Amino acid sequence: MSTNGTVAILPGDGIGPEVIEQGVRIIEHLNQHSGAGLVCERAPVGGAAYDLHGHPLPAATLALAKRADAILLGAVGGKKWESLPRELRPEQALLSLRSELNLFANLRPAILFPELVAASTLKPEVVSGLDLMIVRELTGGIYFGQPRGIRTEADGTRTGYNTMVYNETEIRRIAESAFQIARLRNRRLCSVEKANVLEVSELWREIVTDVGRSYPDVELSHMYVDNASMQLIKAPKQFDVIVTSNLFGDILSDAASMLTGSIGMLPSASLDAKQKGMYEPVHGSAPDIAGRNIANPLATILSVAMMFRSTFGRNDLAQRVEHAVRQALAQGYRTGDIATASQPTIGTREMGDAVLAAL
Ligand code: NAD
Repeated sequence: MSTNGTVAILPGDGIGPEVIEQGVRIIEHLNQHSGAGLVCERAPVGGAAYDLHGHPLPAATLALAKRADAILLGAVGGKKWESLPRELRPEQALLSLRSELNLFANLRPAILFPELVAASTLKPEVVSGLDLMIVRELTGGIYFGQPRGIRTEADGTRTGYNTMVYNETEIRRIAESAFQIARLRNRRLCSVEKANVLEVSELWREIVTDVGRSYPDVELSHMYVDNASMQLIKAPKQFDVIVTSNLFGDILSDAASMLTGSIGMLPSASLDAKQKGMYEPVHGSAPDIAGRNIANPLATILSVAMMFRSTFGRNDLAQRVEHAVRQALAQGYRTGDIATASQPTIGTREMGDAVLAAL
């Protein structure tokens, strides 16, 4: 079965190009040996794009991202570009891509591979077997709500304010995404909000409950965000899929990511209503280790697996990639971030080799 599609490859800055290279090797391997049929087209983004074209998201890069079926992005940012005006900083490219492409559903799986149980800060019995998915609303809520600002009152004191706002349509579409994802997993969805205090959360709960009527096969529960943050640390395996708003999801997904040991292991997807997606490792450009062939490429390789599953409907290829990663770990291959003191380590490219060999 051929997939046929175009993937925009946006390597970015720091370790971005190094880890992306390993992701591209996986796609090319599946093109050659499994008829994946994907065409990869490259374009600069972030600081690298600013250096070349004077803008972190040049028109040609945005045009490619819009035309492509999926986007595979490395990471952006670095000291060199920190003093630029805000609209020219590398991170602006990410925000523009999300809003221009309407990527409202951010999926962040937190999976602990059995071989890496020792890399988590939590007790093995609490985290071993962990496999949860956080679905975070990405283009609404308090990060975008108006009015916002800092005003000076008549008496000279300053007041900072933001608005947490969601309309029914926004809640309904993220709820639909989450229910569909839960259906493909263990059919349990926990909606996280603060309905005991916030009206916006009250509406959130009402709409999620309403959407749930169309998914009788998925068990829906509701949890306040303060309790959810506690439960994530106390008993994370109780969760299958969590759906939540932009702000709560930002915080909870970072907490969940640390359950699994290293940020170098965590993939993510940001999807629109038609499953077009931007896939990227959760980590940043890691300038401290860039250019040394020591970054862990597995978060990027696992992002490629998510791409095959969500955008191209190729669960078979996604599973093969995930299985190959598992096999490389089982064979003892470790980059520095996931190795214990006594384990030998390998480089970025060698980890790519190990996964390819397992494929
Ligand atoms: P970071 O994720 O880049 O690095 C945090 C720590 O984790 C560092 O010690 C780094 O060496 C390590 N690390 C990260 N990825 C790793 C990997 N694959 N393998 C091994 N170790 C890894 O976060 P930071 O240091 O706060 O930010 C660095 C730059 O990245 C900043 O400019 C920031 O704005 C940017 N950033 C970009 C994104 C993105 O592009 N999506 C996300 C976060 C941060």
